[in-house]
Amino acid sequence: MTEATTVRPIGLHRTAPSIRYQVAMPQPESHLFEVTLFVKGWQEPVLDLKLPVWTPGSYLVREYAKHLQDFSADTGDQRNRLLARKISKNHWQIETADTSEITVRYRVFANELSVRTNHLDNTHGYFNGAALFFFIPRWEQQPIRVTIVPPKPDWRVTTPLRSLPGEPNTFEAADFDTLVDSPFEIGTQQLYSFDVLSKPHQLAIWGQGNANPERIIEDTKKIIEVEAELFGGLPYDRYLFLLHLSSNGFGGLEHKNSCSLNYSRFGFRAKEKYNRFMQLVAHEFFHLWNVKRIRPKALEQFNYEQENYTTSLWFCEGATSYYDMVIPYRAKIYDAKNLLDNLSKEITQLQMIPGRKVQPLSESSFDAWIKLYRRDANSNNSQISYYLKGEIVSFLLDLLIRARHGNQRSLDDVMRKMWQRFGIQEIGFTSQQLREVIESVAQTDLSDFFNRYIDGTDELPFDKYLEPFGLRLLSVESGESLPHLGLNVNAENGKTLIQFVEAASPAAVAGVDAGDELLAINGWRVTAEQLSDRLKDYSVGDTIQLSVFHQEELRTLPVTLGVPRPSRYQIVPLENLTQAQQQNFSGWLGTSVTKL
Ligand SMILES: [Zn+2]
Repeated sequence: MTEATTVRPIGLHRTAPSIRYQVAMPQPESHLFEVTLFVKGWQEPVLDLKLPVWTPGSYLVREYAKHLQDFSADTGDQRNRLLARKISKNHWQIETADTSEITVRYRVFANELSVRTNHLDNTHGYFNGAALFFFIPRWEQQPIRVTIVPPKPDWRVTTPLRSLPGEPNTFEAADFDTLVDSPFEIGTQQLYSFDVLSKPHQLAIWGQGNANPERIIEDTKKIIEVEAELFGGLPYDRYLFLLHLSSNGFGGLEHKNSCSLNYSRFGFRAKEKYNRFMQLVAHEFFHLWNVKRIRPKALEQFNYEQENYTTSLWFCEGATSYYDMVIPYRAKIYDAKNLLDNLSKEITQLQMIPGRKVQPLSESSFDAWIKLYRRDANSNNSQISYYLKGEIVSFLLDLLIRARHGNQRSLDDVMRKMWQRFGIQEIGFTSQQLREVIESVAQTDLSDFFNRYIDGTDELPFDKYLEPFGLRLLSVESGESLPHLGLNVNAENGKTLIQFVEAASPAAVAGVDAGDELLAINGWRVTAEQLSDRLKDYSVGDTIQLSVFHQEELRTLPVTLGVPRPSRYQIVPLENLTQAQQQNFSGWLGTSVTKL
């Protein structure tokens, strides 16, 4: 943690203003939070207020100000209004006249249930500071108090912020960053407390479903212990897991002392779904180090008003995604076979996306703001997720380091070194410094690796890195030979809609367009369900007549079918393993490769 320091306006010896917010929700079903800001001790003729346009952890300009309404300012007495005007989309300016006490009132519409937005209805209130609170330029380092006024007597307040003794439902953030980093849950959420390594933890659950809190807590404890062991302790006093159960939700947002999780309410019974949930827990918890404290230079000091560009999100999100697979395995939530199956699935996903040959990983990170969260029909042809490719590159780096050092070193040492060098003091790292740390752990020059796989688009040479561990990547063809067409379809309201056309595929060459409605093959109707089966009636090189509606115009296009593609990839053991390979494998995963 860094010490909060007061940054005063240059050349002025002003005493710091006190900043206090009150958040009420008298009619939760209206989805409107009623926010009042009290500024006291103000000594300047104008007061600027700015609302963030994004929130750390989710790299998209979300324009939170679009939900703000009914803005007014007064002296504390609503009859004494102060003149206020809007300067830009997120910037309000108040003429304070001679008053040192300013009260600002506004309402914020909150009807988007996600971990990075606000949600209020008659069951609960949830908000993120960036989407609800203004910052006062130059006074971002001032402590901020927040008082919550619950609408019903049985609604309570859960937040990682410190509560102020003697003042009901009142909390204090050391500065604006801390306020933004501290979500609030207000309602009848179930609360569970538990200790790990002598530190208090809480799990708060909103919503109904088939989650078993006791089991979740048992497994969460193991995850916390494994991650604490990796980094050498827990760098917080208290930690909160905030879980929203929703119909088909999936998502998480990391904070320094808490995380918000959104998961499918009935997603806890089936083993595979439960494991996916524990990966989400491991992921967001891992972030309390990687990205919340170990931060790229561009995120050292957040600029809440615009994009914060970095090429290193592949490490922040990719390495974290790799560890969200590894940690539950180390915590014995699932076994080595599950881990390798997980990795195989991710590799399959990567190899199915043509955009991997177009967009380098570092560029995917830099352009997160305009691409990853703003997908269109061409996205899979032109881009690759820094989560997906980042986790696989992290996996290969782990194998590279382990193979060179007989498992005496690994990506764990990179994480620890990044923590020691940058995280503890919260000094931002540059992409060059990240590379230096990885190279110092690997004890080799990685120019070639970075040029090809991080700054370039070369295919990842899986076998080269798997072979020292007695493994290889097997490409599996679908059972019967399925000639390649190159499009994905989706059934919607009785129609078969073409969602994606792979660039340069037979379908693309023939002129099939994403958004077209697929009708027939050789004059016979075909549905989304039947498409694969129907293609099996043809061979590579056959030309079929594909009928579609393109912007309501009937078109029949000749498509010449291509060579079948692998349907999936699987990491499998090699035959005739050497002793060195067997040792490498067991040194890595603690079990014998022959037991796979
Ligand atoms: Zn993440």
